[in-house]
Amino acid sequence: MPTPTAFSSTTEVGHYIHGRAVASTSGRRQAVYNPSTGAVARQVALGSVEEVNAAVASAKAAFPAWADMPPIRRARIMNKFLELLNQHRDTLAAMITAEHGKVFTDAQGEVTRGIDIVEFACGIPQLLKGDFTDQVSTGIDNWTLRQPLGVVAGITPFNFPCMVPMWMYPVAIACGNCFILKPSERDPSPSVFMAELLKQAGLPDGVFNVVQGDKVAVDALLTHVDVKALSFVGSTPIAQYIYETGAHHGKRVQALGGAKNHMVVMPDADIEQAVDGLIGAGYGSAGERCMAISVAVLVGDVADKIVPKLAERAKTLKIKNGMELDAEMGPIVTKQALERIEGYIGIGVEEGAKLVVDGRGHKVKGFEAGFFTGGSLFDHVTPNMRIYKEEIFGPVLSCVRVKDLAEAVKLVNEHEFGNGVACYTSDGNVAREFSRQVQVGMVGINVPIPVPMAWHGFGGWKRSLFGDMHAYGEEGVRFYTKQKSIMQRWPSTIAKGAEFVMPTSK
Ligand code: NAD
Repeated sequence: MPTPTAFSSTTEVGHYIHGRAVASTSGRRQAVYNPSTGAVARQVALGSVEEVNAAVASAKAAFPAWADMPPIRRARIMNKFLELLNQHRDTLAAMITAEHGKVFTDAQGEVTRGIDIVEFACGIPQLLKGDFTDQVSTGIDNWTLRQPLGVVAGITPFNFPCMVPMWMYPVAIACGNCFILKPSERDPSPSVFMAELLKQAGLPDGVFNVVQGDKVAVDALLTHVDVKALSFVGSTPIAQYIYETGAHHGKRVQALGGAKNHMVVMPDADIEQAVDGLIGAGYGSAGERCMAISVAVLVGDVADKIVPKLAERAKTLKIKNGMELDAEMGPIVTKQALERIEGYIGIGVEEGAKLVVDGRGHKVKGFEAGFFTGGSLFDHVTPNMRIYKEEIFGPVLSCVRVKDLAEAVKLVNEHEFGNGVACYTSDGNVAREFSRQVQVGMVGINVPIPVPMAWHGFGGWKRSLFGDMHAYGEEGVRFYTKQKSIMQRWPSTIAKGAEFVMPTSK
C-alpha cells in the first residue's frame, strides 16, 4: 500500500445544518489534539441550545417530503452515498487516525464496517415491506406497515468516530427519518465530511445535520419536544443518564454503554490461536474498543502456558504514529485518558495483582510529546479488584485463573457488564454450552471480537445497554419506525346494522 496522506487541516470544525457547513455562533470551542504529537491540531465548535434548535427546525421541515419519498428513491441516494464512501474511504481513515490515534489500517477497517451498514440500508424497500392478511374476516383485510418517527438524534463516542454514527444514521434516514448527529468532541472531523458526501449523493437539505458539542448540545436534544428518538453509544454512566432523561421526556431511547469483555481459554484450545486472539483484541486500537478483550480467563493449566507468550508479545508490540503502515498500536486519545489508564496500572499493583509487563511511560522516538503508553499485562487478578471490575479502556490485559468452565461462566455472568465475550476451545459441546449459558449479548467461539455483521444487529446485555433494541440490522429498522395496523372493508361488504360485541372473525 502506498504511504497514505495525513489529515492536517487547521480549520475549525463547525456544524452542518440544512445542507451546509455552519460556523459556530456561540463562540464556545474546544481544542482537538493529534494524539501522536500531543499538539493541538484544530478547534471544534461547541453547540448552543439555539444551534441545536436550528438543526431540529431544519430536520423537522425536511421530514414530510423525505418520509413521503418512495423507499426505492431513498435507497438510490444511499447507493450513491455508498459509492462516494468507497471512493473516499482513505480520506476518512486518515481523519480518524489524526484525531483518534488508531493505526491507519485499523481506521480503514472501521470505515469499511461502517460502509457495510450503508450497504444494508440500500435494501430498505425490502426491509420496510409490511405484512398482509387477506380476509381476516369476511370482506375485511388487515395489514401492518412501518412508518418513520420524525426527527431522531444520535450521540456518539470518540472511539469509532465514523463507524458508530454509521450504526445509526444510514438506517434512520433510509427509513424516512431526519437525523441530527452529535459526534464526540475529541474527533469531530469525519462527521462533517460524511455530511458533505451525503449532500453530494443527493440527500435533501435538512435530512442529515451535525451539531458539534458537549453536554449543552446533548441536553438540548434530550429535552427537545420535536426529537422523537435518541440513539446513544458511550460510557455506562452517561448511557444511563441519556436513557432515563430521554424516557422522561417521552422519547424512544437506545443507549449502549461500557464493557469489560472476557476471553475464556479452555485447556483444549489451540494456544497459539488464543495468544493471537488475546494480543489483537487486547491491544488493538490501544484497547479503546467497546469490544476489546480486557480479561483473559485462563482455565486449568492454561495460564502457565499462555502468560509467558502473552508477555513476550506485549513487550514487542510495534507502537508508533498510526500513519506508519507497520504500526500495530497508536497513542491514546487524550492526555487525560492516558493518565487514567496508567493510574489503573498503579491501582492494580497496590491491589496485589502481578504486573508482568508494565507499559507506563512508553516513549516513541520523534513523538516524545505524544499520548503513548505501552501494552500492560497483569496476572493473578481477582474479581474483587478494581482493575477487574472497572472499565479501563486502554491496552491493559488482566489474567484471571479459574479451575473449570463452570467457574469461568459464573465469573463472566456475575460481571456488571455484558457486551462481548469469547471462548477458545476445540470441543463443540463446550462451545455450545458456553454460548447458551453466558449472560452476554455478543459471543465469539474462537472469534475474539464478535462484532455482528450489518444485518445481525449489535448490542450488549446488563449495564452495557439500556433499552430493548440493538443497533442496526432489523432491530435498527424497528427502532427507527413505528408499526401501524390497518384494517379495511369496502361498502358493498358491510353487513347491515350496528355491532355491539367485540368483532371476531366471521
Ligand atoms: P462518553 O460517555 O464520555 O461520551 C459519549 C458521548 O456522550 C459524547 O458524544 C460526549 O460528548 C457525550 N457526553 C459526555 N459526557 C456527557 C454528559 N455528562 N452529559 C451528556 N453527554 C455527555 O464516552 P467516550 O469516552 O466518548 O467513549 C468511550 C466509552 O464508550 C467507553 O465506555 C466504551 O465502552 C463505550 N462504547 C460502547 C460501545 C457499545 O457499543 N456498547 C461502543 C463504543 C464505545
